[in-house]
Amino acid sequence: MLRTRRGRPCEATAMTFREGAQIDPNRARRGGGGTGGRIALGGGAGGLIVLVLALLFGGNPADFLGAGTTDNSSSNSGQGAGCTGGATEANTDVDCRINATAVSLDQVWGTQLTRQTGVNYTQPQVVLFTGSVSTACGNATSEVGPFYCPADQTTYFDTSFFQVLTDRFGASGGPLAQMYVVAHEFGHHIQNQLGDLGRAQSDPRGPESGAVRVELQADCYAGIWARYAATERGPNNSEPLLQPLTQQDISDALSAAASVGDDRIQQASTGRVNPEGWTHGSSEQRQKWFASGYNTGQISGCDTFTATDLDNPPGLR
Ligand SMILES: [Zn+2]
Repeated sequence: MLRTRRGRPCEATAMTFREGAQIDPNRARRGGGGTGGRIALGGGAGGLIVLVLALLFGGNPADFLGAGTTDNSSSNSGQGAGCTGGATEANTDVDCRINATAVSLDQVWGTQLTRQTGVNYTQPQVVLFTGSVSTACGNATSEVGPFYCPADQTTYFDTSFFQVLTDRFGASGGPLAQMYVVAHEFGHHIQNQLGDLGRAQSDPRGPESGAVRVELQADCYAGIWARYAATERGPNNSEPLLQPLTQQDISDALSAAASVGDDRIQQASTGRVNPEGWTHGSSEQRQKWFASGYNTGQISGCDTFTATDLDNPPGLR
């Protein structure tokens, strides 16, 4: 990948969304900064899962969520992301890229989920935030990284995260690296629709844990999206939103998946690898399951729950 001398990714030539693509400019909205409003974890929602699925750090949501008292603040009624719906801005502006990626994910899952499972896809909400945000799962800060809250069926993206992903975790800065992150969180929404999310909560840690299986499956679902992103047509048979993915695009996505592997993060932060603490799977496993989804295009290629060997997903056999 091209980098400038200052180490910043150079995306000048990266074009992924097609010129003329029909992109809803208001798919994502801006969530206001959390103003201290906190929602009691597990309170009032009648058994809703309050588990939060972050891209990086699983485990106890209370580690990073405000678990205080309920109040009436609702800071998620923000405006649109400020996009116009053009392909050029989706290829150059991070917020608009997230917005457009969400539209692409809607198209792919709107078709594939029904076709493969008979379940009708419902669109998750997409909220962009800076600093902190109030959610039905509690008050979250940027520390969490991107996450999905099942209780309000919303994906949350701190838009400064992508710089962290490249600077701190060494991911490629290519567009598909960022789009993979969005697709991973949508993967959790698909799991929510299919009733699989609870498996992470009941078995939160360890190399074969339910949490790891849930996270690797979300990576695999991101791969399914990548498989169809350039071929799935939009409403009224409109052109697919994305240009055919290049080998570089796939490398970018794999690079992002690898950068958030538990082993790599542990090695970087503590100097050693402790699988008993894993919540998301190793770098290699995350890449392999993304590839399994991409190769098969099938939800059945993402069955991490019956897999006896998480190092050997069905799509790579
Ligand atoms: Zn996740």
